[in-house]
Amino acid sequence: MSTTSINGWCLSSTVSPAKTFITKTTLRPSVFARLNSSSSASPPSPPSLIQNKPVFAAPAPLITPTWREDMGKDSYEEAIEALKKLLIEKGELKTVAAAKVEQITAELQTQTSDSKAFDPVERVKTGYIKFKKEKFDTNPALYGELAKGQSPKFMVFACSDSRVCPSHVLDFQPGEAFVVRNVANMVPPYDQVKHTGVGAAVEYAVLHLKVENIVVIGHSACGGIKGLMSFPYDGTTSTDFIEDWVSIGLPAKAKVKAAFGDAPLPELCGHCEKEAVNVSLGNLLTYPFVRDGLVNKTLALKGGYYDFVKGTFELWGLDFGLSPSFSVKDVATILHWKL
Ligand SMILES: [Zn+2]
Repeated sequence: MSTTSINGWCLSSTVSPAKTFITKTTLRPSVFARLNSSSSASPPSPPSLIQNKPVFAAPAPLITPTWREDMGKDSYEEAIEALKKLLIEKGELKTVAAAKVEQITAELQTQTSDSKAFDPVERVKTGYIKFKKEKFDTNPALYGELAKGQSPKFMVFACSDSRVCPSHVLDFQPGEAFVVRNVANMVPPYDQVKHTGVGAAVEYAVLHLKVENIVVIGHSACGGIKGLMSFPYDGTTSTDFIEDWVSIGLPAKAKVKAAFGDAPLPELCGHCEKEAVNVSLGNLLTYPFVRDGLVNKTLALKGGYYDFVKGTFELWGLDFGLSPSFSVKDVATILHWKL
């Protein structure tokens, strides 16, 4: 059994759901479900939409970093003015940008010569018309109820990755799940200064919507987790936001590195994709209203993992062994995985 301290909260557990981690201990996550859409022994080939390109490859420097740093301190009005000024002062930038646009346009025309060019407005329009006709107009009872309010049973944290929409994967209907999506499906620790968007969502879901379950769902081939495992965190940075954001999962990285040492990066990432979910579940304990919900048994925490290559989904839970007589501190110290 290993122990991780997360912001003063102690997680004692094996480190991962299912079979990817240590399994010879008595305390481990319980797997509620593992669904296989394919019975073949070897996983199917990845969808053709997956591009085998470096996730964090820097784009060609069309605009120098200087103006970006300045803009970061300004209001958006000031930023727009700064951009206008830059465009006026640096006429060559226009030329470079125009050439780039021309190049991209030519490439697109070549690529789509055999098919109709992609029209984003048309795509949104046809998508909405289909939804309106096939769902909204055919289910007035549901949408009539939703017009009055929402009372979702689930709060879901999922990655922003375009392939892992939880409503699609888990067939959540409108009104069923209050969803937060961000890079690598992270839940930061309670902090009234930093990452307040997540805190506001948790507070609203738990205290006002009174959700009964919070599910944090990781997924295969997660770019955010690959970044977490790849960034050196040695004082240097190569991104404006990503390294800082995914550093929420550093306890997971440390645990995976300690357990699997020099395994290949893809293998380490696979482990970390699940362990980072556990870190987020631990971080949820730092929110007082989440702890209250767990003590009062009005709220449950669950971890999930969607593998879109193998077509599998795993769900695991935490057994806190709670009793109303336990103090909040006790809740953290007795946290353990349900068998
Ligand atoms: Zn992801």
